[in-house]
Amino acid sequence: QGSVASNFIKNIVAEDVRTGKVAAVVTRFPPEPNGYLHIGHAKSICLNFELADEFNGKTNLRFDDTNPLKEDAEYVQAIKEDVKWLGFDWDRLCFASDYFEEMYQRARLLITKGKAYVCDLSAERIREMRGTLTQPGQESPYRNRSVEENLDLFERMRKGEFADGAKVLRAKIDMASPNLNLRDPVLYRIAHAEHHRTGDAWCIYPMYDFAHPLEDAIEGVTHSICTLEFEDHRPLYDWVVRECEMENTPRQYEFARLNMTNTVMSKRKLKQLVDERIVDGWDDPRMPTISGLRRKGYTPEAIRTFAREIGVAKSNSTVDERMLEHFVREDLKLKAPRTMAILRPLKVVITNYPENQTEWLEAENNPENPEMGNRSIPFSRELYIEQDDFLEDPPPKYFRLFLGNEVRLKHAYFIRCEEVIKDADGSIIELHCTYDPKTKSGSGFTERKVKGTIHWVDAAHALKAEFRLFEPLVNETENESEESFLSRINPHSLEILQGYVEENLRTAQPYDKFQFFRHGYFSVDPKRSESDLAVFNRVVSLKSSFSL
Ligand code: ATP
Ligand code: MG
Ligand code: MG
Repeated sequence: QGSVASNFIKNIVAEDVRTGKVAAVVTRFPPEPNGYLHIGHAKSICLNFELADEFNGKTNLRFDDTNPLKEDAEYVQAIKEDVKWLGFDWDRLCFASDYFEEMYQRARLLITKGKAYVCDLSAERIREMRGTLTQPGQESPYRNRSVEENLDLFERMRKGEFADGAKVLRAKIDMASPNLNLRDPVLYRIAHAEHHRTGDAWCIYPMYDFAHPLEDAIEGVTHSICTLEFEDHRPLYDWVVRECEMENTPRQYEFARLNMTNTVMSKRKLKQLVDERIVDGWDDPRMPTISGLRRKGYTPEAIRTFAREIGVAKSNSTVDERMLEHFVREDLKLKAPRTMAILRPLKVVITNYPENQTEWLEAENNPENPEMGNRSIPFSRELYIEQDDFLEDPPPKYFRLFLGNEVRLKHAYFIRCEEVIKDADGSIIELHCTYDPKTKSGSGFTERKVKGTIHWVDAAHALKAEFRLFEPLVNETENESEESFLSRINPHSLEILQGYVEENLRTAQPYDKFQFFRHGYFSVDPKRSESDLAVFNRVVSLKSSFSL
C-alpha cells in the first residue's frame, strides 16, 4: 500500500517520532455501530491505517458503542467486513463497552476530587442555563453537593434507582468558560436500554466527550484523529485525560471531513433511506456506503487512491463526485475485459448471410492490456444492435446506421441497411441489412472506408441480461435544509434495461467487471443475478468532462 502524501497530521506524527515524544505510533478508527460505513468513513480509515503503517505503528478498530439506543450487532459485523474489504488489518479489535467498569471508576475518581457532580436538572434546563458565546452560563443548584452525596447518588444511578433523564453526572469545570464545551458538560446519562453487548448490565452510559478520550488513553492511542467539529472539544478531551489521571496521554488532531457533491453523507439520513425503503438496503448500489460502492462494482484500490488523492486538509470543502468516478475508471481500465453488450436491442437480419451458419471471429479482450489475450465471438445471420445506432431521419454528421448507409460492426464486417421492417402501427421491428464478406475485420480491406463503427451481439448465442444504470440519489450537495432532504430524492436514480451480452459472459461471477464497448464499466450484481439472467450494475460510464 502506497504512502500517504505529506499532510499536516503526518508532519506532526513524523515530528513526534523524530523527537521521541512517542515511542510507537498507535491510531484507531472508532466507528459508532449505528449504521453502515460510507465513503467519508473510508477517508478516515485510510488516513488512520496508512499513517500508522507508514511509521510501523498500529491501528485499532474500536467500536464506540456507548449509545445502546441506536446501536446494533448487525452494524458491527458490516463495519468489520467493510474495513477488511478496503484492505486493512486492525491490530486490536476493541469495544468501548469493554471499558464501562473502568470508565465508571474514573468518574468516581472525578467525584472524589470534587471535579464532578450529580445534577437533577432536565436536559432542557441544562441547555438553557449553559449560556451563549457572549453570556456566561448559570451554575446548577446541585453543583455544590458533597462528595459523599455525589458518590452515593452516582452509585444509585448505576443501580437503576432513577428514571431516564432524572439525573446526570456533570463535570465541574467553569460555567463562565469562553468555550461552551467546558461549562460543566454532561459525562453520564441514564438510559434503561438493552445494549447489544452488555445487555442490561448497565443503565448509565458515558457521553462521547467523556468516553472517547478514556478509550484512546486505555488503548495507548498516540494520535487520535477526528473531524473538525471536535476542535472545540479538544480542551475537554485534554481535561478528561488529565483529571482522570490516565497513564497515557493521547492527543487529538482534527481534519476536514469529506463532503461530496450529490452525495448524502450522514448515517442518519442514509438510515432513513433504508428504513423508508427508498433504496434496496444499505448496500443499494446508489448508496455512498462502502457496501453500496462494492456492490456497484467499485474496487478497494479505487477508493484508497481516491482517499489518498483528496488529501487531508484543515478546512472544509466539497469534493466533486466525478473525482471518485475518475479513480475507479482508472483502476478498471487495464483490469476489466472489454466485451459487447446491447442495452436497448434492435434486431438486424443479414439477408445475404447463409442460414444455419455460425462463424467465430477473433476479438481482443483489452487493446490497452494485450496480456488479456483474445476471445472468439460468434457471428451469424441475426444480430442485435442498439436502437439508437439506427435513425430513420439521420441529422447531418450521423455516421451510424440509416437506410442505404454502411457501417462497420466491431470485430466483424461492414453492413449496409437495405430495408426497415415495421409493424402495423409503424414501430420498427427489425432491419434488413447485407454484409460484404471482403470487409472482414483484420483482413486488411482498404477499398472503401466507413465512418461509423457500432457494436452488436449474435442473436442466436447472446445471453439475456439486465442492466442497471444509476444517477445520484439526491440532486444537490448536502448541507441543505433538513426537511427538504427527502423531497430532493431523484426519481430517476435507477434505470433498468433488458438486453443482451456476449455468450462468453456465461461464466461471469458476482463482482466480475467488464467494460461494455461504448457503455462503460459494469459489474455483476451479487444479489440479483440468477443463473439465467445476469444483472449488471454500471460502475461508471466511459467518459467524463472531469479532469484532475
Ligand atoms: P455520521 O455523521 O455519518 O453519522 P459519524 O462521525 O457520526 O458520522 P462515526 O461512526 O462516529 O460516524 O465515525 C467514525 C469515524 O469516521 C470518526 O472518526 C469520524 O470522524 C469519521 N468520519 C465520519 N464521517 C466522516 C467524513 N465525512 N469524512 C471523514 N471522516 C469521517
Ligand atoms: Mg460519531
Ligand atoms: Mg453520527
